[in-house]
Amino acid sequence: MDDGPFDGIEPGGVTPTEAFSILGNETRVAILQALWESEGPMSFSELRNAVGVDKGNFNYHLGELSHFVRQRDETYELREAGKQVLRAVIAGAITEDPSFGPTRIDHRCPYCGGPVELSYQEEVFTARCTRCVGAVRGETYPRGTFLRYALPPASLEDRTPEEVLAVAHRLYDGKITAMIEGVCSECAGVVGFSVDACPDHDASGRELCATCGTRHSVWVEACCENCRYARQFVLWFAVVTNPAVVAFYHDHGAPWNRVPFAKLTRENARYVSDISEEVLSREPFRARVAIRLGDDEIHVTVDDDLEVIDATRDDA
Ligand SMILES: [Zn+2]
Ligand SMILES: [Zn+2]
Ligand SMILES: [Zn+2]
Repeated sequence: MDDGPFDGIEPGGVTPTEAFSILGNETRVAILQALWESEGPMSFSELRNAVGVDKGNFNYHLGELSHFVRQRDETYELREAGKQVLRAVIAGAITEDPSFGPTRIDHRCPYCGGPVELSYQEEVFTARCTRCVGAVRGETYPRGTFLRYALPPASLEDRTPEEVLAVAHRLYDGKITAMIEGVCSECAGVVGFSVDACPDHDASGRELCATCGTRHSVWVEACCENCRYARQFVLWFAVVTNPAVVAFYHDHGAPWNRVPFAKLTRENARYVSDISEEVLSREPFRARVAIRLGDDEIHVTVDDDLEVIDATRDDA
């Protein structure tokens, strides 16, 4: 390694401000793009020819990219951080101004069996029931919303709305599974949990709970301590992979053999329609999920890390 622009530069951590300022330059972005499009590592002259700027400037800009580009022997390639930046840009840029719907699809509301409409606006995907109140209410949510996800535009490419719904489930099942286990799905950082229990929950009628605005009384927010990526989910999600719960569902003929988040369709509604959640104590934190199928019931207690500490079946 001699005379390369990285000589003497150790790639270290960069702050978000530094990262934005490093990337806020056309030549540097062109360097990253050329390396992204290349089949393998590029030599200095290949890279400079691909970018097409004069030597002095080029050396300087390449040197500024040490956090994103690795020099190995006489060649250059993207570091993982460089690939991630380009992936983030590509994920958001495949389709211009993507949107669809509201579109009626061949699915039924998991709560009432009513017709379901899907829409995608401003990178948010919404599924709503046209008959009932759905699962959550929010200022910007259409009535009947039971699923609302931010979804990259790439998810729409070559897919029907029904397929986008399946993709949204698949993507978020994976993300939520990792988050529940304390691993950030975006950066692999440490996830912390906070639990929000409705103090006066009543969603037994035709409307959502007047106090918390949802159908479920206990929600968990999982938030990455590193990148602040956060996801909210009902407490029930945290116990659904516990072997006792899996066995309980299995014994009652549930048709899934994996985490069933994606299976909240009308056919499977009986498996998820009678679930209650409550916070038993704050110090130490204990919360309980009760799942009923016919006359049988299972109670699962979790601690503040969402670890299952007790699962008791009460079969009739
Ligand atoms: Zn409905
Ligand atoms: Zn409530
Ligand atoms: Zn993270």
